[in-house]
Amino acid sequence: MEETVLIVEDEADINRLLARILEGEGYRVLQAFSGTEARLLMERETPDLILLDLMLPGMSGEEFLRGLREELGSEAPVIVISARNSLDDKVSLLKGGADDYMTKPFEPEEVAARVQAGLRRSGKRVKEKKELSCRKLKLFPELRTVTLDGEEVALTAHEFDILYLFMRNPEKVYSRELLYEQVWQGGYYGENNTVNVHVSNIRRKLKAIDPEEYIQTVYGIGFKLKI
Ligand code: CA
Repeated sequence: MEETVLIVEDEADINRLLARILEGEGYRVLQAFSGTEARLLMERETPDLILLDLMLPGMSGEEFLRGLREELGSEAPVIVISARNSLDDKVSLLKGGADDYMTKPFEPEEVAARVQAGLRRSGKRVKEKKELSCRKLKLFPELRTVTLDGEEVALTAHEFDILYLFMRNPEKVYSRELLYEQVWQGGYYGENNTVNVHVSNIRRKLKAIDPEEYIQTVYGIGFKLKI
């Protein structure tokens, strides 16, 4: 599953720049422009890493960080981004629960490297295989691309995530609830039809290229890859 990075930065240009860099690296990006907005986002999202600016209007970065650790009990790695550059700040931030520190201005390569290192330290970034395949179907996790018989299949992000799960664990049968939980991260599945709709969309797109069945319905349980 792709990892989610939350950017908390009030300067729109910098926020957008960071988002562009991280999206280019294949992360899912959430953007907040104040501590309060970030706090609200944390009620429904669990980012794998947070990039946090300190000088924010309203709730400061330090306050957000304290609340994150103490009230929300989140252990997501936090990389602080700030124009401040004194050693005192660094020490007190690291004591305050930040994991790393980056000063503005920064280079795109530095952002990418630090985010990757932060995720690796937290044990989240599992090494992904370069390519998964099942007969004529190939999936490239890092490119988030799927081809069938050499032809690219245009999938939405959720469709890709579903197929990725199937192909990563080809023996496993996924219930609708489990798929929903893993792909939509956290929402309550309830009675809705979302998973079925997405699976039929994937099937339809694959069949347009190859009439063979790649997803098997396991009656009464859910779906799996048809090996
Ligand atoms: Ca700022």
